[in-house]
Amino acid sequence: MAMAAPLIKADFDLAIVGGAALLSAGNDFNILVDAFIGINGNQIVRICPCSEMPDGSFSAKETVAARGMVVLPGLINTHCHCAMSFFRGFGDDLPLTKWLFERIFPAERRMMNAETVYRGAKLALAEMLLAGITTVADSYFFEGAVARAGKEMGMRLVLCRGFFDPPVGVKPATLAQSARHFFIRYRGDSPLISPALFCHSLYTCSPTTLTTLKSVAREYDVPFMFHLLETAQEEAMVQERYGATVYDILTSGDLLDEKTLAIHCVHLNEKLVKLFAERGVKVSHNPRSNAKLACGIAPLPLMLAAGICVGLGTDGAGSNNRLDIFSEMEFLSGLHNIPLSRSRAIGASSIVRMATLDGAKALGLDSLSGSLEVGKDADIAIVDFHKPHLTPVHDYSSHLACRVRASDVHTTIVAGKVLVHNGALRYGDINEIMNAVRPLEGF
Ligand SMILES: [Zn+2]
Repeated sequence: MAMAAPLIKADFDLAIVGGAALLSAGNDFNILVDAFIGINGNQIVRICPCSEMPDGSFSAKETVAARGMVVLPGLINTHCHCAMSFFRGFGDDLPLTKWLFERIFPAERRMMNAETVYRGAKLALAEMLLAGITTVADSYFFEGAVARAGKEMGMRLVLCRGFFDPPVGVKPATLAQSARHFFIRYRGDSPLISPALFCHSLYTCSPTTLTTLKSVAREYDVPFMFHLLETAQEEAMVQERYGATVYDILTSGDLLDEKTLAIHCVHLNEKLVKLFAERGVKVSHNPRSNAKLACGIAPLPLMLAAGICVGLGTDGAGSNNRLDIFSEMEFLSGLHNIPLSRSRAIGASSIVRMATLDGAKALGLDSLSGSLEVGKDADIAIVDFHKPHLTPVHDYSSHLACRVRASDVHTTIVAGKVLVHNGALRYGDINEIMNAVRPLEGF
């Protein structure tokens, strides 16, 4: 008599069952409908149709029922100053230089310390997790306080120590040493924290400061970031302060390689676009911040056509309105049609890729995050599509790029840990997090 084959039962820590999974397929995406995603520890270990994993064929410590939902890679915010959530709505409607020099810098000197940075960062991280963002590059000061908030919230951080020009008399070797101390402190501190360096800009950091810190970043093989050509006035400001052009500073200082992330690039000319493409420089596109501060529209179609890897960023909440990558996607999906007088100047798949895999590449994290693949960390956002504004579905990427709202996020998972479920934080009390910031309202 024939014997039935013994049932081999698969065990998972976490199973996501029944969603439509957004899988990378070259430059596009394939949708695996009715998908099963099995996770053990921090990693994705199985992706297959649910028909291959029927009920009873597996056990999981936790199962997320995702029918009617879309499972996508967690969103990547390539540029933020988390603690600046304190400045949301502060100095509204001012152009960048007035906003920065007359409102923000004095307020930061007055009120920013390790405790306020911790509280502001925690609020920002909560907002981002609830919006399906699983990784953020934070560029600020008191990074120990940001690391503490990140560990408590469970979010993946690219922790960027911020630099301006040091006080007169501080030698480049001292500056380099302080950057090295930062790496020694945070390398290996947590699997979710990757240290990196951030110079504020070419008009607040001298060519010597930039070159010194880039060489330390190179020594540790980590990203080196700076705001670049955010306003039309920046070229003249740099020339007046340092007597050199932006192009000359970037090239003579050997600042450009595949580990360089230039943020904003609103006024990047064709010569620099070509140079960035040749050197593999990455760009962080922050369209809503650029609009709010009247900086202009970055030449995104030109950068993409040249083959530059572009990720999306929110910048801080003070120079944006929300920390929400879905809003950035929707905004940019229409924005670049205007100067080109062309609909769909940027395709929906390109937009979703910028928010996910290309964002991860821009931060040097694409071996870990940015796509749903067996062997990668389970950094996942699950969006509830059972909504009037997402019905019917002709094209999943188009809905994700143009119509999904942050409030549609049902579940957010970082490195296999469910941090948001049913639209609510699982760890940390959102009321406490908000109340910790309120005493400083009206500072
Ligand atoms: Zn910024």
